[in-house]
Amino acid sequence: MKIICIGRNYADHAKEMKSEVPTEPVFFLKPDTALLPKRNPFFIPSFSNDVHHELELVVRISRVGKSIEERFAHRYYNEVSVGIDFTARDIQALCKSKGLPWEKAKAFDGSAPVGKFVILKDDQNIQDLDITLKINDQIVQEVNTSKMIFSVTQIISYVSQFITLKIGDLIFTGTPAGVGPVKINDKLEGFIGEESLLKLNVK
Ligand code: MG
Repeated sequence: MKIICIGRNYADHAKEMKSEVPTEPVFFLKPDTALLPKRNPFFIPSFSNDVHHELELVVRISRVGKSIEERFAHRYYNEVSVGIDFTARDIQALCKSKGLPWEKAKAFDGSAPVGKFVILKDDQNIQDLDITLKINDQIVQEVNTSKMIFSVTQIISYVSQFITLKIGDLIFTGTPAGVGPVKINDKLEGFIGEESLLKLNVK
């Protein structure tokens, strides 16, 4: 399986990063080794002094698809959760300044913890979910998915023009404003609505 991550999908985050708001989805990949086994802590990697949390809605692909039309894209996922797109911001800034790829900053081991997946209920709209990240019981990131620049179906349609989607692939759909560094002993908890789906300790 592969992990596809969307960059700059909320205008307020693009602004805090002093990045342009994109006119088409920006995506990058993480390998399956970026997943974090359940109940494992997240270890801050030794190569970075500035690892940031990025709370994101995560969509799990449930059908194989290539060049999926947007109007059919809702048939290609069935479960959602929240995940953290951990980012070594210092390394990323260095890569960006040299025009180099971001993988060192984004794709390292354990950089993509994902919570428990839930099936959306009939009355739930994927573009109207509140996602929240608390650190040590304080809310640090909070957004409604209606604020996405590119919707989940637009993302699936766009990415599948370039890359075949397979069952079990995960799409991280971008982070809202409020990113910041994590430190040892932080306790992270991610929610959709009131439901706690992800708990993680930083070591
Ligand atoms: Mg991200």
